[in-house]
Amino acid sequence: MASVPADMKAVYISKTGGTEVLEYKTDVPIPTPTDGEVLVKNDFIGVNFIDTYFRSGLYAAPHFPYILGREAEGTVVAVGPGDVLGFNVGDRVAYLGERSYAEYTTTPAAKTVKVPSSFKLGTAAAALLQGLTALTLVREAHNVKKGDWVLVHAAAGGTGLLLCQLLKAIGANTIGTVSTPKKAELAKQNGANHVINYSHEDVKAKVLEITGGQGCIAIFDGVGKSTFDLSLECVARKGSLISFGNASGAVPPVTIGRLVAKNVRLMRPSLVSYITTREELTGYTEELFAFIEKDDFNVRVHETYPLSEVKRAHEDLESRKTTGKLLLDPSK
Ligand code: NDP
Repeated sequence: MASVPADMKAVYISKTGGTEVLEYKTDVPIPTPTDGEVLVKNDFIGVNFIDTYFRSGLYAAPHFPYILGREAEGTVVAVGPGDVLGFNVGDRVAYLGERSYAEYTTTPAAKTVKVPSSFKLGTAAAALLQGLTALTLVREAHNVKKGDWVLVHAAAGGTGLLLCQLLKAIGANTIGTVSTPKKAELAKQNGANHVINYSHEDVKAKVLEITGGQGCIAIFDGVGKSTFDLSLECVARKGSLISFGNASGAVPPVTIGRLVAKNVRLMRPSLVSYITTREELTGYTEELFAFIEKDDFNVRVHETYPLSEVKRAHEDLESRKTTGKLLLDPSK
C-alpha cells in the first residue's frame, strides 16, 4: 500500500440546489477500500452534466452528505480484500462510479479500467464517460450505418463533439445543432456535415431541406425539454428519437400516440445499462481507447478547473459557455 494521508479535499452536497450547495472541504476522511474495491488517488476528475442533476435534485442523491462525481483518472494506491481483478498499487486507471469529486475515491474494481501508457494525463478522464456514451448510442440505441442522416443536438458539447467524430468515422451524414457561431465552427471541425444554429434558425425547415424532405433516421437528443418536440418533427419515418439527457430540463410525459404518424421508435437510454457487465465495459472501453490511440478522436478539454473552483465549473457548464470536456484538478 502506498502512503495515504488521513484526510483529503472533496466536494460534497448536504442538500440540493444551485451551485451554492457545493461544499469544498479539506478535511474529509479518506475512505478504505472494501471487498472488491480499489482506492484511487485521482489526478483528473471528469465533470458531467449528470453531476448538476444530482446537485440540483433532478436526480436523487442516495444520502447526504454526498460526494458528487461519476468518473476520474488516477493511480491505484491501495486494494481491498476479495477479488480486485488483478489491479495493483501503482496501476494507472480510470473508472466510472461515484464520489469522484475528491482527492481519493474507493471504487469497485469491476468499474475500473487500465489507462494505456501512451495516453496523455487527463485524456482518459476527459473521454471515458462521454466517449462510452457516444459509442453505445451509435451502436446500440440506434445502430447507425454509413450514409444515414443523423441529427445531433448540442453538437459542440462534450458528448456532442465525440458523437460527431464517431458518426464521421461510420460514414453517416451528420447535422449538428448549436447555439453560437463558434460552436458551429467547432462541430464542423469535428465531423458534422451541416450545422444549424438553433438560437435563430428554423431547424425543422433546414433539416427537411438538407435531407430532401425525409428527416433524420436517428436523432441524438441530450438537450431534452427544449428540443423534444423539435426532434419529433425532424425524425424520419421509421426513425429513432434517442432522448438521452436533460441539459435544458427533463422531458415531460409523452403521449405514445405522438409516435404513430411516422412509426417512430422512442428511447431513453442510460450508459450504465449498456456497460453493466465487465465484458460490456471492457469491450467498449477497448474500442474507445483504440480510437484515441489511433488519433481518430480529438478529445477536447474546455478547461481544467482547480477542485476548489468547482462552482465556476458547474456555472460555466450550465450557462452553455463550454465546448468539449470540463475537468477538475484535485491537487489545486
Ligand atoms: P455538454 O457539454 O453537451 O453541455 C450541455 C450542452 O447542452 C450545452 O453546452 C448547450 O449547448 C446545450 N444546452 C441546450 N440547452 C441548454 C440549457 N437550457 N442549459 C444548459 N445547456 C443547454 O454536456 P454533456 O456532454 O456532459 O452532456 C450532454 C447531455 O448528455 C446531457 O443531457 C447529459 O445528461 C447527457 N448524457 C447522458 C448520458 C446517458 O447515459 N444517458 C451519459 C452522458 C451524458 P448549446 O449552447 O450548443 O445549445
